[in-house]
Amino acid sequence: MKYEHEFNVAIAAAKQAAVLCESVRRSVNFASLDKPDRSPVTIADFAAQAMICRQLNQAFPQDQIVAEESAALLHKSPSQLTKVTGVLKALIPGATPEQVTGWIDLGQGKVGERFWTLDPIDGTKGFLRGDQYAIAIALIESGEVKLGAIACPAFEEGCIFTAIRGQGAKRISLKTGQMQVLKVLNVQASPKFRLAESVETSHGDPEWQRSIAQAVGLTAPSLQMDSQAKYGAIASGHAELYLRLPWSQNPDYLENIWDHAAGAIVVEEAGGRVSDMHGKPLNFSASAQLIENRGIVVSQGEIHAAVLAAIAANTAADL
Ligand code: AMP
Ligand code: MG
Repeated sequence: MKYEHEFNVAIAAAKQAAVLCESVRRSVNFASLDKPDRSPVTIADFAAQAMICRQLNQAFPQDQIVAEESAALLHKSPSQLTKVTGVLKALIPGATPEQVTGWIDLGQGKVGERFWTLDPIDGTKGFLRGDQYAIAIALIESGEVKLGAIACPAFEEGCIFTAIRGQGAKRISLKTGQMQVLKVLNVQASPKFRLAESVETSHGDPEWQRSIAQAVGLTAPSLQMDSQAKYGAIASGHAELYLRLPWSQNPDYLENIWDHAAGAIVVEEAGGRVSDMHGKPLNFSASAQLIENRGIVVSQGEIHAAVLAAIAANTAADL
């Protein structure tokens, strides 16, 4: 099986990170800091990134890793660094603060011919609220996502959505290890089509998204969910369309590659389609941001062209 070693390493890292994040979430007073862009980050984000980067680097020392967090904030906050080191010591006895910041900054790599992209906690706001969040790992080679793993500890009993290019998508239970092949819903099987969208209304334009959904016949109330768990929801038939359309108050926002790469391959391998709002494929290799794409459209496939047409007919001239 092609990418078998990569798959085994990514799944093992995602599982361990899921256990780590859930144990931090259960602890009473874990801290959350604000990043310069005012988004929250917790000791679990840092600890999960350190652990996953360490494992990827041990297995594939030649590979670059492009991850969401950097150790810069921890260098300014020794008390938080002590806490992150404490969390990691339970898994890696003898871990030192210097090692921990070094492991986190393995994630400051560059996009290229072959690299990993990682979001240690996608949906930190959901993590803090007690809702959905995801640990997202993807391998990109020659401009194409080859492998994706999205651990979703709060998705039903807890699962990993995963896919390898050309080999289909699967869901692995975090509780039992049982595997299930993923398939998007087709039109006939799905009388109650529904839209999936972010819980955070500033991460897209909910009004615009809902008007597009209605234009293609999706009338049920939308499924609001944090993180790349939404891609898992489309791949496993909980919803048929996920829209992330630019919000007028933040029209220049560029999406991060780690927020979409793992999700995209899971949906595509489950039979769905992923593009930007103009129908262009997402380019994960140009930069750490999707600089060539605007908006995100994820669907079960059959409705994709109709969705793109509805967006084209209903887009402000400057977008
Ligand atoms: P979701 O729960 O799907 O909205 O995804 C959470 C991700 O949204 C975070 O990891 C951020 O990288 C990303 N994000 C933050 N601000 C914005 C924004 N203004 N527009 C779109 N996405 C954002
Ligand atoms: Mg994220």
